[in-house]
Amino acid sequence: MQHISDDLYRQMLGVMHTVKDLNAASAVLGWDQETYMPEGSGAARAEQISTLDTLAHTELTSTRSRDLVEKVREIDGDDVRSRLVKLFIKEYDKASKLPESLVRETSKACALAQESWKKAKSEKRFDIFSADLEHLIGLKSQAAECYGYAENRYDALLDLFEPGITVNQLRPIFSRLREGTDNVLKAIRSSQVEVSSGLLMQQFDCDRQVEFARFISKCIGFDTKTGRVDISVHPFCTSFAQTDVRLTTRVFENDIRSCLFGLIHETGHGMYEQGVSSELARTFGSDGSSMGIHESQSLFWENIIARSEEFWQWAMPLMKDYFPQQLSGCSSFDFYKAINTIEPSLIRIESDEVTYNVHIIIRFEIEEALINGRMSVGEIPTVWNAKMKEYLGIEPTNDAEGCLQDIHWSFGGFGYFPSYTLGKLYAAMLRKAILRDVPSVTDHIRRGEFSTILQWLRDNIHVHGKIYTPNELIQKVSGEALSERDFLEYVKAKTQRVYDVSFAE
Ligand code: ZN
Repeated sequence: MQHISDDLYRQMLGVMHTVKDLNAASAVLGWDQETYMPEGSGAARAEQISTLDTLAHTELTSTRSRDLVEKVREIDGDDVRSRLVKLFIKEYDKASKLPESLVRETSKACALAQESWKKAKSEKRFDIFSADLEHLIGLKSQAAECYGYAENRYDALLDLFEPGITVNQLRPIFSRLREGTDNVLKAIRSSQVEVSSGLLMQQFDCDRQVEFARFISKCIGFDTKTGRVDISVHPFCTSFAQTDVRLTTRVFENDIRSCLFGLIHETGHGMYEQGVSSELARTFGSDGSSMGIHESQSLFWENIIARSEEFWQWAMPLMKDYFPQQLSGCSSFDFYKAINTIEPSLIRIESDEVTYNVHIIIRFEIEEALINGRMSVGEIPTVWNAKMKEYLGIEPTNDAEGCLQDIHWSFGGFGYFPSYTLGKLYAAMLRKAILRDVPSVTDHIRRGEFSTILQWLRDNIHVHGKIYTPNELIQKVSGEALSERDFLEYVKAKTQRVYDVSFAE
């Protein structure tokens, strides 16, 4: 086994520090753009961000980096240093494998596609978007060829979001997940219980909502000495360092879910960022393991904790202090049922925990076929609508509520969607693992004590940053390989409780 010398390691850290500092500075500007920047400052800000991003790319692909990578390519080992070397090589390869002309053309194509996508969506006409989309898919397929892959061209794009995950690994998991979802929907159709989200759609004062959401975010463990919460159009989490994490949420007066669950979700992301080992600060190991693992942290808090019955046994009296009129006759069980309504929706982001995955599976199947040239762009609307009908029993009446609903394709984010569902599967696997390690965890939740849970996540997930791939990390924590089994068990148990139905074994 060959280890890296102290001198080379210091040089490598030097490059990583510069790149990460430039990334962080760019992220500060991006955060400001979404929160406090005056409306008319967009053009100047875009130039500033682009300059910083170009500087970071130049540093990463410099001859200094190339020489370093050549010297450390044979380094082999399992310790943190050796793994950082592997991440360094991977980032260098990713940044230098694409010819500059392709990078430039792709960024131009994305700008055009975003404009035509917006127009197409507002006019409900896919044909306005299709030529730009086709161009972008061509460029992304070229990029996949440059990155390289073993079996499936789509794997090269998946790897950008979920390192090491492949189409062959996902296909059987997604097929069993669809089957399990069908069983849940069948059971719900046989239920006599009336479950509705009506009580969540009353009038709730916006300032009170934000106050309550901030309170809950702090209770579950977000450290406001090293992070802050603001308001933006779309909720997000961004971090400039483990000691500087920014969250946002949004508020709707007539729906209490958006602000509260939005902030709990982002808090999950934020606590992950706050928990990465300081040893990894300013290195390529300081991010989360993958998009999906990151999403598992937000979904763990949003769904597994904050949509549980125990959580509302604790939180309901507290929430009633904020909204005594609206919630006067509402029990914690009423609220628990209302926030766990399951009903197929045409819109992905409005979907429940269970049918959400079907939206992802449809996008995955379409993307994989497009990138491998087995499907043409013109076929997308027909295929989309047919799959919605077959998988969920509902059909869009126009493309805006069908294949034009998401922004992702317009910015070239092919390979991104599966991470959302993987996040749900990882979160359910973590739920099972924490119940094994801390059997009293539900009592903790019922008492509003979250520190044991957060510490468990810190020790098992957060501290490792990006040092392990998602497959490695989930195996290490749960003792098992990625699977849909724990998720299906979890949603079946919840469905039984909410809808008072039973499942045949
Ligand atoms: Zn998220």
